[in-house]
Amino acid sequence: MTRYQNKLFIDGKFVNGADGCTIDVFNPHDNSLITSVAEAKAEDVDRAVAAAARAFPKWSALPAAERGKLLLKLADRIEAEADELAYLEALDTGHPIRDAKNIDVLRTAACYRYFGGIADKLQGKTVPVESGFLNYVQRVPIGVVGQIVPWNFPLMFTSWKLGPALAAGNTVVMKPSEITPLSTLRIAEMMAEIGFPEGVVNIVIGYGETAGQHLAEHPGVGKISFTGSTAVGRRIVAASQGNLKRVQLELGGKGANIIFEDANLQAAVNGSAWAIFHNQGQACIAGSRLLIQERVADEFLDKFITLAKSIRIGNPLDAETEMGPLTSTIHRDRVLSYVDIARQEGGEILAGGQAPQNPDLAKGCYIEPTVVRAKATDRVSLEEVFGPFVTVTTFKDDSEALALANGTDYGLGSGLWTSNLSRAHKMAASIRAGMVWINSYKRVNPGSPFGGMGLSGYGRDMGFEAMEGYTEAQSVWVNVDAQIPPHFKR
Ligand code: NAD
Repeated sequence: MTRYQNKLFIDGKFVNGADGCTIDVFNPHDNSLITSVAEAKAEDVDRAVAAAARAFPKWSALPAAERGKLLLKLADRIEAEADELAYLEALDTGHPIRDAKNIDVLRTAACYRYFGGIADKLQGKTVPVESGFLNYVQRVPIGVVGQIVPWNFPLMFTSWKLGPALAAGNTVVMKPSEITPLSTLRIAEMMAEIGFPEGVVNIVIGYGETAGQHLAEHPGVGKISFTGSTAVGRRIVAASQGNLKRVQLELGGKGANIIFEDANLQAAVNGSAWAIFHNQGQACIAGSRLLIQERVADEFLDKFITLAKSIRIGNPLDAETEMGPLTSTIHRDRVLSYVDIARQEGGEILAGGQAPQNPDLAKGCYIEPTVVRAKATDRVSLEEVFGPFVTVTTFKDDSEALALANGTDYGLGSGLWTSNLSRAHKMAASIRAGMVWINSYKRVNPGSPFGGMGLSGYGRDMGFEAMEGYTEAQSVWVNVDAQIPPHFKR
């Protein structure tokens, strides 16, 4: 029988919450109870912040390469225990196990490895100032950092946040989603076993309105890095005002995925299916708006719908499964409500729009891959659905494609498919999105910054940008010639 770590991780120990409450964790395949985990409330968050504050002086003073070494060890450990982590992630989130193993676990290890390697490569600079003075700028860690992540990629997002924060010398209080805590708690166990000092990382599982809100308001926290919905992002900004903590926001998206008539259509069909149906569409960067040039729309849609209908939906633990359940019942119902909205708006359901008719999946949070022809001004084309739900709209020329692509207030991920290089680069530069993929979609790498514009948030995960985001630029002035200041001469 699998053993689940189900306690809070504070000051290097697994502990119950102060008031003994627990949160039930369900398997989205059949809504059975997996386990219950300790619930953190304000008092537990306070204990975690205090532990992180105590750990900060030693951790930040450690040579950066030593911090990196621990992250490198963690990356190796994750790879060595890939099967167990993939199992936990598939069970808890509904990710197909083959994706959990080949994508989530590998990307997680790669992320810790990247930040393990980069830890001692963040450099300061010297500035040419007036003679007699040396000015240098060094990057100093912020202190205690709060991190709040959602349920759609818990293992990966934890690494995107912990990797750079720890490499840069901060200590962390992390609040995973209350819906999917299991893989994060296993990572905490690994960290303890590998030898991360007590208090450097603290994991508080709790609800957003209680533990999350308290962490975001906490005066002992210097920065909040938040991934989640735009609505909660606004609350994080408001909560940060008390001590003017820094805020980084990775919020929702409504990715435009543009198919030009000169694209390799088969590549575009496959890539577009991946863009929206990977992880059941529960991705902030999902290509959830298909914009197709009129002349190839019918041919593209024929192929795309045939592919969508052939996707193997099933128990995520089955190695053949290509699409699992959505991660919770509440979310499944929310996504289905958008099918009703589409119908009310006069949209045409071209595929899916319902739960699969397979009785083996009847208890789970499943939805068929759904393709909806909609107007660009419809709610379903403007609001984030966060499910296997893609809208289809056609366009005539480049300028119309661009206007449609930039026609929402989000600006996270966007893709375009064309064999015309000049069009590709011009479009990429004009699309208001933090990430643009040309003839591909949804590629990420720990070296490349990840984040959005507009209502998709600000600041970046990953890359040197993330390291800089977890530090302050401190300017140091040295009076090299030991000049006596000329002011107030007597
Ligand atoms: P959510 O905003 O409801 O919750 C995200 C996290 O915030 C959870 O841990 C939750 O417990 C916590 N939270 C909720 N209310 C809070 C509050 N008042 N104060 C502090 N914390 C609070 O989002 P979700 O439903 O878990 O995730 C889906 C959303 O996340 C989608 O909108 C998706 O686009 C977004 N997302 C964005 C990115 C990105 O990188 N831009 C990545 C993945 C998901």
